[in-house]
Amino acid sequence: MSAECLFCKMVSGKIKPNTVYEDSDVLAFRDINPQAPVHILVIPKKHIATLNDLNQRDEDLVGKLITTAARIAKESGVAESGYRTVMNCNADAGQSVFHVHLHLLGGRVMRWPPG
Ligand code: 5GP
Ligand code: ZN
Repeated sequence: MSAECLFCKMVSGKIKPNTVYEDSDVLAFRDINPQAPVHILVIPKKHIATLNDLNQRDEDLVGKLITTAARIAKESGVAESGYRTVMNCNADAGQSVFHVHLHLLGGRVMRWPPG
Protein backbone atom coordinates (compact mmCIF):
# COMPACT_ATOMS: atom_id res chain seq x y z
CA MET A 1 0.00 0.00 0.00
CA SER A 2 1.38 3.35 -1.05
CA ALA A 3 -0.51 6.36 0.35
CA GLU A 4 -0.21 8.52 -2.79
CA CYS A 5 -0.92 5.73 -5.29
CA LEU A 6 -4.19 6.09 -7.24
CA PHE A 7 -4.69 2.35 -7.67
CA CYS A 8 -3.95 1.66 -3.98
CA LYS A 9 -6.78 4.11 -3.19
CA MET A 10 -9.06 1.95 -5.34
CA VAL A 11 -7.94 -1.18 -3.52
CA SER A 12 -8.63 0.45 -0.14
CA GLY A 13 -12.00 1.81 -1.29
CA LYS A 14 -11.02 5.47 -0.83
CA ILE A 15 -11.78 5.90 -4.54
CA LYS A 16 -14.52 3.70 -6.00
CA PRO A 17 -13.68 2.26 -9.42
CA ASN A 18 -16.17 0.68 -11.80
CA THR A 19 -15.31 -2.82 -10.55
CA VAL A 20 -15.85 -5.87 -12.74
CA TYR A 21 -14.10 -8.44 -10.52
CA GLU A 22 -12.44 -8.56 -7.11
CA ASP A 23 -10.92 -11.22 -4.85
CA SER A 24 -8.28 -11.24 -2.13
CA ASP A 25 -5.40 -10.88 -4.63
CA VAL A 26 -6.63 -8.85 -7.59
CA LEU A 27 -9.04 -6.08 -8.59
CA ALA A 28 -10.39 -5.46 -12.11
CA PHE A 29 -12.17 -2.28 -13.16
CA ARG A 30 -13.08 -0.30 -16.29
CA ASP A 31 -10.49 2.14 -17.60
CA ILE A 32 -11.66 5.76 -17.22
CA ASN A 33 -10.42 6.59 -20.75
CA PRO A 34 -11.26 3.47 -22.76
CA GLN A 35 -9.24 2.78 -25.92
CA ALA A 36 -11.56 -0.01 -27.08
CA PRO A 37 -15.18 -1.08 -26.43
CA VAL A 38 -13.83 -3.37 -23.71
CA HIS A 39 -10.97 -1.76 -21.75
CA ILE A 40 -10.46 -3.20 -18.31
CA LEU A 41 -7.48 -2.90 -15.97
CA VAL A 42 -6.51 -5.88 -13.84
CA ILE A 43 -4.26 -4.99 -10.90
CA PRO A 44 -2.68 -6.81 -7.98
CA LYS A 45 -4.01 -5.55 -4.64
CA LYS A 46 -0.41 -5.42 -3.45
CA HIS A 47 1.44 -2.24 -4.46
CA ILE A 48 4.16 -3.00 -7.01
CA ALA A 49 5.29 0.10 -8.92
CA THR A 50 6.54 -1.40 -12.19
CA LEU A 51 7.32 -4.75 -13.79
CA ASN A 52 10.95 -4.06 -12.83
CA ASP A 53 9.97 -4.34 -9.17
CA LEU A 54 8.53 -7.86 -9.42
CA ASN A 55 10.35 -10.69 -7.72
CA GLN A 56 10.06 -14.45 -7.88
CA ARG A 57 7.47 -14.52 -5.11
CA ASP A 58 5.13 -12.54 -7.36
CA GLU A 59 5.03 -15.16 -10.12
CA ASP A 60 1.69 -16.68 -9.05
CA LEU A 61 0.20 -13.21 -8.64
CA VAL A 62 1.26 -12.11 -12.13
CA GLY A 63 -0.10 -15.36 -13.54
CA LYS A 64 -3.38 -14.56 -11.84
CA LEU A 65 -3.57 -11.17 -13.57
CA ILE A 66 -3.52 -13.01 -16.90
CA THR A 67 -5.96 -15.79 -16.00
CA THR A 68 -8.31 -13.16 -14.55
CA ALA A 69 -8.11 -11.13 -17.77
CA ALA A 70 -8.82 -14.25 -19.85
CA ARG A 71 -11.89 -15.03 -17.76
CA ILE A 72 -13.17 -11.44 -17.98
CA ALA A 73 -12.59 -11.53 -21.76
CA LYS A 74 -14.85 -14.57 -21.93
CA GLU A 75 -17.50 -12.92 -19.76
CA SER A 76 -17.27 -9.75 -21.88
CA GLY A 77 -17.87 -11.69 -25.07
CA VAL A 78 -14.54 -10.94 -26.74
CA ALA A 79 -12.70 -14.22 -26.13
CA GLU A 80 -13.55 -15.67 -29.53
CA SER A 81 -13.23 -12.46 -31.57
CA GLY A 82 -9.94 -11.70 -29.83
CA TYR A 83 -8.40 -9.26 -27.43
CA ARG A 84 -5.07 -7.80 -26.40
CA THR A 85 -3.35 -7.68 -23.03
CA VAL A 86 -0.73 -4.98 -22.39
CA MET A 87 1.53 -4.14 -19.47
CA ASN A 88 3.43 -0.88 -19.94
CA CYS A 89 6.71 -0.41 -18.09
CA ASN A 90 8.23 3.04 -17.54
CA ALA A 91 8.55 6.05 -19.82
CA ASP A 92 9.19 4.59 -23.28
CA ALA A 93 6.12 2.37 -22.97
CA GLY A 94 4.00 5.26 -21.66
CA GLN A 95 3.35 3.94 -18.16
CA SER A 96 1.42 6.67 -16.36
CA VAL A 97 0.22 4.95 -13.17
CA PHE A 98 3.02 3.40 -11.14
CA HIS A 99 1.13 0.42 -9.75
CA VAL A 100 1.43 -2.66 -11.96
CA HIS A 101 -1.65 -3.18 -14.13
CA LEU A 102 -2.65 -5.31 -17.07
CA HIS A 103 -4.80 -3.73 -19.78
CA LEU A 104 -7.45 -5.97 -21.33
CA LEU A 105 -8.54 -4.46 -24.66
CA GLY A 106 -11.15 -5.95 -26.98
CA GLY A 107 -14.22 -5.40 -29.10
CA ARG A 108 -12.40 -3.94 -32.09
CA VAL A 109 -9.62 -4.92 -34.48
CA MET A 110 -6.17 -4.01 -33.10
CA ARG A 111 -3.29 -2.86 -35.22
CA TRP A 112 0.20 -4.30 -35.08
CA PRO A 113 2.82 -3.17 -34.26
CA PRO A 114 1.44 -0.97 -31.49
CA GLY A 115 2.50 2.67 -31.62
P1 5GP B 1 -0.67 3.15 -18.22
O1 5GP B 1 -0.60 4.32 -19.16
O2 5GP B 1 0.05 3.42 -16.92
O3 5GP B 1 -0.29 1.83 -18.83
O4 5GP B 1 -2.22 2.97 -17.89
C1 5GP B 1 -2.86 3.70 -16.91
C2 5GP B 1 -4.34 3.63 -17.23
O5 5GP B 1 -5.06 4.05 -16.10
C3 5GP B 1 -4.75 4.52 -18.40
O6 5GP B 1 -5.35 3.74 -19.43
C4 5GP B 1 -5.75 5.49 -17.77
O7 5GP B 1 -6.83 5.82 -18.62
C5 5GP B 1 -6.20 4.74 -16.52
N1 5GP B 1 -6.61 5.61 -15.45
C6 5GP B 1 -5.95 6.71 -14.99
N2 5GP B 1 -6.64 7.27 -13.98
C7 5GP B 1 -7.74 6.50 -13.79
C8 5GP B 1 -8.84 6.58 -12.88
O8 5GP B 1 -8.94 7.46 -12.02
N3 5GP B 1 -9.79 5.61 -12.97
C9 5GP B 1 -9.72 4.60 -13.89
N4 5GP B 1 -10.69 3.71 -13.91
N5 5GP B 1 -8.69 4.51 -14.77
C10 5GP B 1 -7.72 5.43 -14.71
ZN1 ZN C 1 -0.37 1.23 -5.51
